[in-house]
Order: sequence, then structure tokens, then C-alpha cells
Amino acid sequence: MTDRHHVVIVGAGFGGLAVAHGLAGAGVRITIIDQRNHHLFQPLLYQVGTATLATSEIAWPVRHLVRNRKEITTLLGVVTGIDTAGHRVLLEDGADVAFDTLVLATGARHAYFGHDEWEPFAPGLKTLEDATSIRRRILLSLERAERETDPLRRAALLTFVIVGGGPTGVELAGAIAELTHQNLRPDFRQIDTRTARVLLIEAGPRILPSFTPDLSAYAQTALERLGVEVQLGLPVSDCNAAGVMVGGRAVAADVVLWAAGVRASPAATWLEVQADNAGRVRVDADLCVPGHPEIFVIGDTASINAWHGKPVPGIAPAAKQQGLHAARTIKQRLRGATGPSPFRYKHSGNLATIGKRSAVIDFGWIKIRGWLAWWIWGLAHIYFLIGLRNRLAVALSWLWIYTTGARSACLITQVDHRPPPDATAAPARSMDVS
Ligand SMILES: Cc1cc2nc3c(=O)[nH]c(=O)nc-3n(C[C@H](O)[C@H](O)[C@H](O)COP(=O)(O)OP(=O)(O)OC[C@H]3O[C@@H](n4cnc5c(N)ncnc54)[C@H](O)[C@@H]3O)c2cc1C
Repeated sequence: MTDRHHVVIVGAGFGGLAVAHGLAGAGVRITIIDQRNHHLFQPLLYQVGTATLATSEIAWPVRHLVRNRKEITTLLGVVTGIDTAGHRVLLEDGADVAFDTLVLATGARHAYFGHDEWEPFAPGLKTLEDATSIRRRILLSLERAERETDPLRRAALLTFVIVGGGPTGVELAGAIAELTHQNLRPDFRQIDTRTARVLLIEAGPRILPSFTPDLSAYAQTALERLGVEVQLGLPVSDCNAAGVMVGGRAVAADVVLWAAGVRASPAATWLEVQADNAGRVRVDADLCVPGHPEIFVIGDTASINAWHGKPVPGIAPAAKQQGLHAARTIKQRLRGATGPSPFRYKHSGNLATIGKRSAVIDFGWIKIRGWLAWWIWGLAHIYFLIGLRNRLAVALSWLWIYTTGARSACLITQVDHRPPPDATAAPARSMDVS
């Protein structure tokens, strides 16, 4: 095995696993390095954050996924640099891994537009830890509200702010509205969870900007029907322990969630190459780093205008297509042939769900909304989950919640040492807790 061409894949997300899949039978040795031991189905992460699904329903140990591929070694480790001249991947613990071909598929994280100090007050959603921490914040806020006697503080505890009106923000807002306004109502005695305020703040003129204006308008109406307040056209100017500042007004809120910006992993810094303004590596048409045909960068970490001249979007199908393209290129080069034609992204559509009864879908040639779109969204997501057991488990969880309204994942699993928020401490010019 050791004399075989060695492909190192950093990142076992959608892109990285697609490379491994595409290299099956290629006669290469593969090492997958990831800082986590699991592959995560991020599109359903918000459902863990809102107590719909359990963590094990949307994540799978990488080692287990590739157990039948004897040519693949899986390493748990944090990559901190690349020695491009020496062809080595550098790990945080001082170890290094040599490669013949390297694929960087390290994804992206949320970004705070230069205000990283907001992160502790407005966490984003990217990892399982983020999702369970968000679930804890939401449930703890309701628990504290149940014991709070001061009306101002209780209102702050029952206010949930989501910053960013893209698909993740819309999905979080709809799910929190259903959780508080419908599902948890019978569980509390002192508070009426239907009075919870769910506020979705979008700086742009409409939510779901990647959809057509009519689908955006439909999604807004559907959210409002669930009891979500949608505030458009005003950016958040501060996040702190008391809530957010938006349009010069302070909104007192115990739970503020961030779904507004994205920043690529620091692969460009590791490689000392040019990045775009979201930190993504500008790759050549074959997805390689300029001047380094042995290093591919794919998925959310790569920047390439391969969608009819437009940038490839940061979504799972794009990462998968790039992973498969990189694998094809590696195989052709090993056969001594020139690589396949330049990477071209094929877009199959945009999907977003609004609660558990409505969704919007834009396939380009057809647009669907409402319950039919929700069913298509649900079936598509079940189809893309890994393994029959998870497909059945998720379908059953959804069916259960749909018919009974009972969410089995309402668990506070980590102790929170934060002091309860003090609504009166908001940097308020005018306090808006109505
Ligand atoms: C909340 C949320 C909802 C989403 N919803 C959708 C959706 O509905 N539809 C859709 O198509 N897309 C959706 N996306 C986007 C989609 O998940 C990404 O585009 C896709 O995951 C990108 O794949 P990737 O392989 O580039 O990165 P990822 O899948 O993010 O994988 C990156 C991997 O690299 C690892 N890694 C990162 N840094 C290091 C390091 N230094 N060392 C070692 N390992 C490292 C990570 O642990 C991770 O496993 C969503 C994303 C989020 C966050």
C-alpha cells in the first residue's frame, strides 16, 4: 500500500467525502483528516437546535462510513498549516502527514462582519456543538421565564432574535415559532409560551434573497402566519448580553442567533495564496491552487466562477460536484491523460422550509410553494441522509411531531454558567420589549 499514490483529504464534509467516493477503485492510498470524528448533515442542523431531531440522526462517524474501504485511513486532527514545498499537512499537535495529492475541503464558518466580539452573544449554527448550545439557550430561556416575576425581564427571556434572513435564518425562525407558539404551550404553568416574540432581522430588502421576489414574499407571509415578526432593511449595529441594537433601537432578548455571514476556513492563509473577500481560495478552472496542480481546494473553501460565469454557491451539491470533479481529475492524471474539462457547476435548485407545513422551492423551470413544496423538501432531505436507519428515524421523528406536536429532543444537556440577562442593562435609547 505505502508505494501507492497518496491522496490526503482534509475535511470529511460533503466535498471531502465526495472525493473519497469518487476515488473508489482508483488504486490510490487515501488519508482523511478531520478535526471532528463525524460527517455532519448541516441542512438539518437547525432541527437539532430547535429540539426536533437528536444529534445522532444527522451525523455519522467518518471511520464507520469508510470501514469497508481498506485503502482509506481516518485521522482525527486539527490542520493548522500546509508545507507546500515539502508536500506535508501540518497538524496542531506538531505531527505532519505527507501527501502526493492534497484536497482541502475544510468548509466555512459564520462571520460577524468584523465584529467577532458579538459571537458569545449571538452564536451561529455550523457544528453539532453549536446546535446543542442553541437548543440549550432556547430551553433555558423558557425555564428562566417560568420563574421570572419581573415583566420586563420575562419579556426579554421570551424574545428570540434571529439575525439574517437567508435559508438558515428563515428555518430557525419558523421552527422556534412553532416550538414556542404550538409545541411547548402545554408544558409550562406560569408562562404562556404563545406570547414569545420571534423576531427575524434582515438587513436587505427581502428575506431569502437567492430566491425570486414572489417566493421571498410568500415565505415572509408564511413566517408571519406562524407568528414571526420580520424586520427588513435595517442592519444590526450591536449584539451584547442584553440583546441587539437595530435601527437605533435596543431589543432586549436572552436568545440572539446569528445566521448572517459566512467566512471560509483559513486554507488561503495556510497556502499563502489569494483569497476573495469571504476568505475563499481563488482556484483555477480544474479546482487546483494556481501554481500547485497537486493541491485542490473545493466546496465552501473555494472561490470559482463556474456557474455560467457566476460564483458557485456555498451549498452541499456544489461541494459534492467539486469533490467528484477533483476525483476524476486525479484518476485521469494517474492514467497519464490530461484532466477532464474545466469544472462546471450544475444547479438543481434552491429549497427552504418554513415550519413544518410550508416550504419554497425554485427549480428554475418550476417554482413550488406551500405544503407540496414541504413534502418535496422533506423527501429530498430524507433521501440525502446516510443509511436506512437514519432515514427511518428522521421520518418517524417528523411524523411524530407532525401528528402529536411532542418534541422528544427538548433536553438541556450542558450546564450554563452565564448569569441570567439583565434586560435593564441594554444600551437602550428606547427599549423595545413589546
Ligand atoms: C446551518 C446550515 C444549513 C445549511 N443548509 C443547507 C441546505 O439546506 N442545502 C444545501 O445545499 N446546503 C446547506 N448548507 C451549506 C452546506 O452545508 C455547505 O455548503 C457544505 O457543507 C459545504 O461542504 P464542504 O465539504 O465544503 O464543507 P463542510 O461540509 O462544512 O465540511 C468541512 C469539514 O472540514 C473539517 N475541518 C474544518 N477545518 C478543519 C481543520 N482545520 N482541520 C481538520 N478538519 C477541519 C470540518 O470539521 C468539516 O467536517 C447549510 C450550511 C449550514 C451551516
